[in-house]
Amino acid sequence: MKISFDLDDTMISTRFHLEKRPFFAKMVGTEKLRSGTIALFKTLKAQKHKIYIYTTSYRSVYKIKLMFLAHGIPVDFVINQQMHEKRIRNKGKSISKFPPEFSIDVHIDDSAGVETEGKKFGFKTIIVSVSDKDWVNTVLKKMDEF
Ligand SMILES: [Mg+2]
Repeated sequence: MKISFDLDDTMISTRFHLEKRPFFAKMVGTEKLRSGTIALFKTLKAQKHKIYIYTTSYRSVYKIKLMFLAHGIPVDFVINQQMHEKRIRNKGKSISKFPPEFSIDVHIDDSAGVETEGKKFGFKTIIVSVSDKDWVNTVLKKMDEF
């Protein structure tokens, strides 16, 4: 499956514990990732899933790719706000995220609004709270239900 992850408050925030950055990540000055991200991505990759990042931030695709690469978990594809606007908003759709446009099977996010959009526009979401300390298992368990 193609699985996409939101960034802010799903994997990047000061509101949860963070991974220790590997040497290379520190050297290039990447942002820090939520504790458990490395293990989760490695598990999903071992299960042959493709990992996408789908964020409404304006961080560059290069910066986002480098951040995950520097943590030893390269991602397959990155959708940032610029790409979203080009592909979705310019078609006249007023929606914050639309994973089916990129053939994504399930999108993981902290936003209840995205869950509502998923129900309305017919795409699957897994919503993870910023306070969920067991978020890795929350994701893996829900993945098993699909
Ligand atoms: Mg978010």
